[in-house]
Amino acid sequence: MTRIILIVILCIFYLVNGFSQIPRFTRQDTLRGSITEERKWWDLTYYHLDITVNPDDSTIYGTNTVGYTVLERNQVMQIDLQPPLELKQAIQEGEKLNIKHDGNAHFIYLIKKQKPGSRNELELIYGGHPHIAPRPPWSGGITWSYDNNNNPLIVSTCQGTGASVWWPCKDHMYDEPDSMLISVTVPENLMDVSNGRLRKVKTNDEYTRTFHWFVSNPINNYGVNINIGDYVHFSEQYDGEKGKLDCDYYVLPYNLEKAKEQFKQVPLMLEAFEYWFGPYPFYEDGYKLVEVPYPGMEHQSSVTYGNGYENGYGGIDQSRSGWGMKFDFIIIHESGHEWFANSITYRDIADMWIHESFINYSENLYVEYHFGKEAGTEYVLGTRMGIRNDRPIIGFYDVNYSGSGDMYPKGGNMLHTLRQIVNDDLKWRSILRGINEEYYHQTVTTQQIENYLSEQIGVDLSKFFDQYLRDIRIPVFEYSIKENELFYRWNNCVDGFDMPVKVKISGTEKWLYPTRRWASTEIDQDNPVLKIDPNFYVAVLNITGR
Ligand SMILES: [Zn+2]
Repeated sequence: MTRIILIVILCIFYLVNGFSQIPRFTRQDTLRGSITEERKWWDLTYYHLDITVNPDDSTIYGTNTVGYTVLERNQVMQIDLQPPLELKQAIQEGEKLNIKHDGNAHFIYLIKKQKPGSRNELELIYGGHPHIAPRPPWSGGITWSYDNNNNPLIVSTCQGTGASVWWPCKDHMYDEPDSMLISVTVPENLMDVSNGRLRKVKTNDEYTRTFHWFVSNPINNYGVNINIGDYVHFSEQYDGEKGKLDCDYYVLPYNLEKAKEQFKQVPLMLEAFEYWFGPYPFYEDGYKLVEVPYPGMEHQSSVTYGNGYENGYGGIDQSRSGWGMKFDFIIIHESGHEWFANSITYRDIADMWIHESFINYSENLYVEYHFGKEAGTEYVLGTRMGIRNDRPIIGFYDVNYSGSGDMYPKGGNMLHTLRQIVNDDLKWRSILRGINEEYYHQTVTTQQIENYLSEQIGVDLSKFFDQYLRDIRIPVFEYSIKENELFYRWNNCVDGFDMPVKVKISGTEKWLYPTRRWASTEIDQDNPVLKIDPNFYVAVLNITGR
């Protein structure tokens, strides 16, 4: 009897868990990924991160001063910091506060009455050995490495993992401080390069120097970074849409000549992206490229670079079209994120496609700008080889869980498909620039971007996005030709999918408006041959073979 009960329980367990595609989430995932009660009552205004980084014992010690405005009455504040780092103290107006630790989340019990509308500050004191990045930048933390001259090269990466892997903060993307000061103390023979502008360098008594970097724009938390090394510096000014843009480059001394050659692509990048997306979004903070010992990351106004000073991505053309070897993937892709990721930022990492689909797509816009439309098309169609259709592009909300890596090539091809529907390159460009104006320096949801595109294009795109972002199937254009009649419909797609599509019938271009139901149209050629425009990311099936 007990055996039967056990088997029944096991069957139920497998039915519920074993066959489901939904990963299991924990309370920690919810604390990290949702806008909790202890987060939503206060609005970040300012951070001053002030730390000492010690290469000798691989530790970080320091403080983060958090400025915020009270939105609603509450006396408990959630701050995130991941072990093995320890949140040692929280202080407000000289008073030491009680902290209840719950894994990576720390609940601080404030004494001072938090009056709506008031602006307050809180000082967080922390330190220890930060988590070491297992695989930067994909799996983040701190990387303690050495350059070829055996000088320390210490860098941070934390997208997905969370900024709380190396400093205490509100580790959710919905809220950004309006500005931030990053003060980093390092041994005097090294320098730190962080975000924004270098405000001052202070020489201390203990053979150290402190680098003060000020970011005068809202910054997303994974964009904040430290890069500590024996850097040399060169710079130029780019004459852009909003005036003179300061471009500063920090590289290892033995790579200076290579960098001066390779970084000539920066003005080419700025020219192409300002054309398509509008002005570079952080003129006040400048633009930087900083050499690091991992491939690269879109750190805001200090894009990090580790692509070996060669074109392609790690020497490879991901599109296999040849065009991928005409540019340095990391300079183009990571810098493109200044528009989509740093200026327009996802509120929840489930919507990471807003960063990666637009920037995967930006690679072909770069190619198109410099090498012509046909080249751009070859590039974006070439990247389809990397599409897996394994999981939806949108991940799970409120648990810090991103969707499929298809957000890169499939997302790029979704946008390329959308461009065909717009069928007007000038309008398409004005829409891309429009998104950058509408959501300038904001955190956004998928719904906002979908609605904006539907409104601007004048087509209800809800089913289009359901298909490409929330489903893994490739829609199939099914057709059959009988005498002088073409029968057609969409299949293998979401209910209500009704994307218009461009076809050529014996060389003559024609727009069709298929739905899930069979429709027909007359054609007046003998032995007609139908070809779907390859710019649409769809499959085709001639069901009767005729
Ligand atoms: Zn990216």
